[in-house]
Amino acid sequence: MQKDGQLELPVAQYLRLRRHIPPLYGVLAINVVALAFTHRATAPLYLTLGVPFLLVLACLQRIHVWTRPVAPAAIAVTEAERLMRRTTWLGIGMALGFLAWALVLDQYGTPEQRGHVMLFIAATMMACIFCLTYLPRAATAIGVIVICAFTLYCVLQGSEERIAMALSIGVVTGLILFVIRDSFAAFVHLEASRDALIAGQRRAERLEAESARLARTDALTQLPNRRRFLEDVEQRLEGCSPDKRFSIGLLDLDGFKPVNDTHGHAQGDRLLQAIGGRIAALCDGKATVARLGGDEFGVIVPAAIDAAQELMQRICLTVQEPVELGDTLVSVGASGGVAAYPDSGRDVNDLFDRADFALYYAKRHARGNCLKFSAEFENLIRADHLVESALQSADLSREVSLVFQLIYDIEKMVPVAAEALARWSSPIAGTVAPEMLVSCAERLGILRVLTLHLFDLALASAAVMPQHLRISFNLSAGDLTNPQTITGILDRIGASGIDPYRLVFEVTETSLISNFATAVRELQHLRETGAKIALDDFGTGFSSFNSLQQLPLDVLKIDKSFADRIEDISCRRVLNGIRSLAFSMSLDCVIEGIETEEQLTAVRSLGFRFVQGFHLAAPRSLKDIAALVGVA
Ligand code: C2E
Ligand code: CA
Ligand code: CA
Repeated sequence: MQKDGQLELPVAQYLRLRRHIPPLYGVLAINVVALAFTHRATAPLYLTLGVPFLLVLACLQRIHVWTRPVAPAAIAVTEAERLMRRTTWLGIGMALGFLAWALVLDQYGTPEQRGHVMLFIAATMMACIFCLTYLPRAATAIGVIVICAFTLYCVLQGSEERIAMALSIGVVTGLILFVIRDSFAAFVHLEASRDALIAGQRRAERLEAESARLARTDALTQLPNRRRFLEDVEQRLEGCSPDKRFSIGLLDLDGFKPVNDTHGHAQGDRLLQAIGGRIAALCDGKATVARLGGDEFGVIVPAAIDAAQELMQRICLTVQEPVELGDTLVSVGASGGVAAYPDSGRDVNDLFDRADFALYYAKRHARGNCLKFSAEFENLIRADHLVESALQSADLSREVSLVFQLIYDIEKMVPVAAEALARWSSPIAGTVAPEMLVSCAERLGILRVLTLHLFDLALASAAVMPQHLRISFNLSAGDLTNPQTITGILDRIGASGIDPYRLVFEVTETSLISNFATAVRELQHLRETGAKIALDDFGTGFSSFNSLQQLPLDVLKIDKSFADRIEDISCRRVLNGIRSLAFSMSLDCVIEGIETEEQLTAVRSLGFRFVQGFHLAAPRSLKDIAALVGVA
């Protein structure tokens, strides 16, 4: 029997005996025949033919038994022990039988023939002892019994030479027994150390396999981790020809950060586990899921891009279902991006970047959905590269400026604030949308410089605008998470002489999500000066009414999408709700994106007071604003 691939000692012993015992019986049979032959003329027939025949037959039978094929692994330890016990008794019996025959034959021989008998006894006994090295108790028993019986026989015969010979054989036998006991002990030791070695090897192998598994498993969700995900993609690419399609999907949770900040990291972890389990259950048999880190998951789908997008879309929906954390129900969302081999990319980096780009795009423009990477995105990437290189060599003070869009109080129909909007006219990239300018500056690590440049312009403009007009300034996620940017803004406010009450900082829900706690802290610093904080694009993001309460806010800017659907009764109902909520929290509301008189009328009838939109005023240069409101 084997334990962990190695043999137990009795089995190892038995297998050695299987190699040694058959030749032993062979030698015995030959010796019997030789002795019988030399006594053929002097001894009776039953001793030279009958008994030898039986002895040889017994030898052949034993050879047959010992040479029967057996698989080492099939031998049980107890069976090996039983067979060896039997071998010991049988060996003693056979040895006595052979000895008795030889001694009886000794009665009939001439001095030479009697010498042959002595040799037969000594030689066969030595052979027995050697061949039983791995069964020392049998070797010892046979040696002791044969020597004692033989010596007794010699003593009874009274021949001095024979007694002396018996003693010599006895001494040599003792020595041989001593040596084979030693070599058996060495054998036992060897087996034990080999066992230990093999066991050590097995343990090392198991440890290695376990640590390899751990290095590729996410400790929190027990899903494969980023490393394993990338390896799996690589592996697929290795064996993949362009006609074998597969897709990778990236998923990022929306609104996870606030949950983590509000409910604590332990609950955040539990939420990730629950969501990980949910995604894995949905993908079971269809795709492999990994947690790539933070609130990001990756999926490998052995299908073309449309099927992969469909699966990812279902994942986004599943993630949205509320999760029970203790006695509270928490919900987050998920946005995703998919890219497919070979259309979106042919190596792991390309595929990952493309899926990431689609995800990034979904986060900004189609939250809660999964987008697939397409040719359109490829153009966007190219445009991004062009804009990046243009921005790297841009002269901000000459190329980047501000325009202002007025916000009206529609009760009195007077402008109350002007929102500063960035404009970049690049000699290389042409007119670039402000969102692109901001995200590009963030990627290049120059967002702080850009924001402070824009803020300088805003303060300079504020200084020349009428005192009753507030100035709204947009801050992005990158600004809110960089305390140095906020310090720069605070310093500039102090140095400008502008009354901070005239300043409004606009932030979006999305910009808060990435690092909620820091963003809230920085907003508080700004608000402490007396400046106001507006939540921009309200209604598109994820912050629930619950998280509104945790933000230091003064104004809600209701996203343009509400103005677009204002004809819709359900939309009006929501707007009503938002108005009451804002009222109860002492927040002002600004409705953005009013483009028509009808929309304006509807907004008015719903009881809103502050409005912004092309219908009232499009963004204009400072000079044009001056003409409208009169510059100090
Ligand atoms: P936002 O803060 O929501 O700004 C309002 C955007 O809506 C402006 O686009 C404005 O021109 C546009 N808009 C205003 N009224 C209407 C309307 O009636 N109809 C339509 N269709 N659009 C209207 P703009 O200037 O292209 O800015 C886009 C976004 O870029 C801004 O959205 C803001 O998130 C960002 N942004 C602009 N300037 C800055 C800046 O100085 N810093 C930062 N961080 N972001 C900026
Ligand atoms: Ca804004
Ligand atoms: Ca807005």
